[in-house]
Amino acid sequence: MTSTDHTKLKFDQVCIIGIGLIGSSLARAVRENGLADRLVGCDQSRSVCDEAIKLAVVDQATPELAEAAAGSDLIIVSTPVGAIAEVLKTLADAAPAGAVIMDVGSVKGSVTAAAAILPVSLHFVPAHPVAGTEKSGPAAGFAGLFQNRWCILTPLERQDEAYQVAVDKIDALWHAIGSDVVRMDAAHHDLALAVTSHLPHLIAYTLVGAADDLESVNEAEVVKYSAGGFRDFTRIAASNPVMWRDVFLHNKDAVLEVLGRFSEELAVMQRAIRWGDADTLEKAFTRSRSLRQAIIEAGQDSAEPNFGRDTKK
Ligand code: NAP
Repeated sequence: MTSTDHTKLKFDQVCIIGIGLIGSSLARAVRENGLADRLVGCDQSRSVCDEAIKLAVVDQATPELAEAAAGSDLIIVSTPVGAIAEVLKTLADAAPAGAVIMDVGSVKGSVTAAAAILPVSLHFVPAHPVAGTEKSGPAAGFAGLFQNRWCILTPLERQDEAYQVAVDKIDALWHAIGSDVVRMDAAHHDLALAVTSHLPHLIAYTLVGAADDLESVNEAEVVKYSAGGFRDFTRIAASNPVMWRDVFLHNKDAVLEVLGRFSEELAVMQRAIRWGDADTLEKAFTRSRSLRQAIIEAGQDSAEPNFGRDTKK
C-alpha cells in the first residue's frame, strides 16, 4: 500500500531514456496527468529524438545520456532489456544524487542484478507495465496504454526510508496514469511472465515461421484463410524483434522451465490425437475455455465475439 498520494505527486524533471512505444506512452501519460514540470528525452538515434520533439512527446531530447539525466529527479529507462545494464552504468555517475530511477523492462532478474552498480544515493525501482502493442517507436505511443492494466513492481531488498519513499512514489505514479499496481520479487515475476507473455510470443513466432516454411500450403492460402486462428498469432509475431530477442536472452532459465512443461503437454495432445482419445481432448479444451472466461471477468479482454473485430472489414 503506498503512502504517497498520487493526486499530489509531481516531479520537477522526468527524463525518458529510449523514446519508443513504452517510453513515449509514459511521457504522454506523465504530461497528460500533470506529473512533471519538464520532460526530457534521450534516445540513441538522433532521428527518434527529433521525432519525439516534433510530436511534442518531450520538451527536449538528446542522444547524450549524461546531458539528459542532469537535473532530473525521475529517470525512466525504457530501452530494450539488453541495453539497460549499460545505461545504468552511465547513470551511476551521471544521475543527480537522490534521483529515482525506474526501468520498464519485461525481465526483472537480470535488470535487478545490473542495478548493483548504482550508489545508494540513487533509488532504483524496477517496474514492468503489463501493457503493450506490437508497434514500436515514438509515434506508436499513447497516453491511455496503461489504463486498467497491471504494473508489476519488483523493489530491491533495501529497507532504508529514502528507498521506501522512492518505491511509494513510483507506485503512486502508476496509479496516477490509470494502472493497478502489484509488488512481487523479481524471480517470481520472471516465472509468471514466462507463462503469460514470453511463451505465447515464442509459440507465435514459431508457428508463423513454420507456416512460412510449409511448401504444400502456399502463402496466398495462409493469408486467405488466416481468420481460422492464424492471424491472431501473426499480431503477436509482429512484435519488436530486438525487444523479444533480449527477453529470451535475459529470461533464459524461466522460459526453458515453462517450455519444458509446455512440450510435455503438447506431447499429451499429440498422443490423444493419434489414438483418437476424445475424452482427453475435450477435457483440455474445456479447461482452456474457463480460463478465457476468467480473463474477461477480470477486465483484461473484451467479451465480444472475435475479439471485438468488425468482421465486415
Ligand atoms: P521500442 O519502441 O523499440 O523503443 C525502444 C527505444 O529505445 C528505441 O527508440 C531504441 O532506439 C532506444 N534505445 C535502444 N538502446 C538505447 C540506448 N542504449 N540508449 C538510448 N536509447 C536506446 O521498444 P518498446 O516496446 O518501447 O520497449 C521498451 C522496453 O519496454 C523494453 O525493455 C521492453 O521489454 C519493455 N516493455 C515492452 C512492452 C511492449 O509490449 N512493447 C511492454 C512492457 C514492457 P533504436 O530504435 O535506434 O534501437
